[in-house]
Amino acid sequence: MPSSVGETGGGVPRVSPLVVYARGIVRKGVVAGVRRLVLGGVLLCGAAGAATPYRVQAGDTLLGIALRAGVSVSAIRAVNPALRASSTVQLGRVIQIPDRSAPATTHTVTAGQNLTVIARKYGLTLTQLVRANPKYASGRPVPAGARLSIPARQVPVYLTTGRDTVAPAAARPAARSTRVVTTPAATARSASPRSSAAWLWPVTGYTTVSSGFGGRTLEGEGEQHYGIDIVAPVGTPVRAARAGRVLESRPDYQRGWGWTVVIEHPDGWITRYAHLSANLTKQGEWVVRGQPIGRVGDTGRSTGPHLHFGTYLRWNPRDPMSLYR
Ligand SMILES: [Zn+2]
Repeated sequence: MPSSVGETGGGVPRVSPLVVYARGIVRKGVVAGVRRLVLGGVLLCGAAGAATPYRVQAGDTLLGIALRAGVSVSAIRAVNPALRASSTVQLGRVIQIPDRSAPATTHTVTAGQNLTVIARKYGLTLTQLVRANPKYASGRPVPAGARLSIPARQVPVYLTTGRDTVAPAAARPAARSTRVVTTPAATARSASPRSSAAWLWPVTGYTTVSSGFGGRTLEGEGEQHYGIDIVAPVGTPVRAARAGRVLESRPDYQRGWGWTVVIEHPDGWITRYAHLSANLTKQGEWVVRGQPIGRVGDTGRSTGPHLHFGTYLRWNPRDPMSLYR
């Protein structure tokens, strides 16, 4: 059912902006790019209170750090006593970013899903998923329609350097009185996009867009959707829309992207590919236009197999469909 495929609404913390005083000079040789802070796997339920050090970068704000980490400013303050009485953080200072808990939930198995796929979707190890569902410990397959317990868990914290990928406007839920208008693109069933000289359509042969760019309503909440959702089967190759350098290739459960790739292109454009079942490139690599960089999946905050494709010009979100007309 294409119309139901997309992301589920995510909680972006509502926080107030604080300014970072950038003192000193950025060290020569520091390149803009991804700084992975925590490489550790998913922690078991109950490992509360974990935090990850982060060195404040030029251009950071506490709000930006919080948004990127998927936690609130107050949560950061709670584990950084020095920030409680201060409205600023200094460049180069190391602060602690608290891990975020994801609540327990259930998952209804769909046709073709196995435990490995489902574990990956929620950022769990197979062992953790089986422990919560002991009837499948024998290795017997999970039937479609079966309901699995997804235990409460700590999701890994990653922070990237550079500009926020979530605009502050997205942190403000639509007022109750505001009617969220679904964009025309959101209802397009077959947009018939085609590649242009510059931009290659990232999933060859699949053109159904289940959710377009802009305001939309998910689970009763209004939110901004900074990209388009292209429906395609799990495993379909995802190709780089343009040549560029890989900024991120990693799981990002904090922000609901699941396995995601972000590519920086030479002229200020950035593309994001999310909810992947496999990543086929590494951070720092250069990729050519059309190179397979991942496979379509259903990982992270996603309600069915699709590619979330986001395009940004210097991190300002742009409607990908405007690039394929
Ligand atoms: Zn999406």
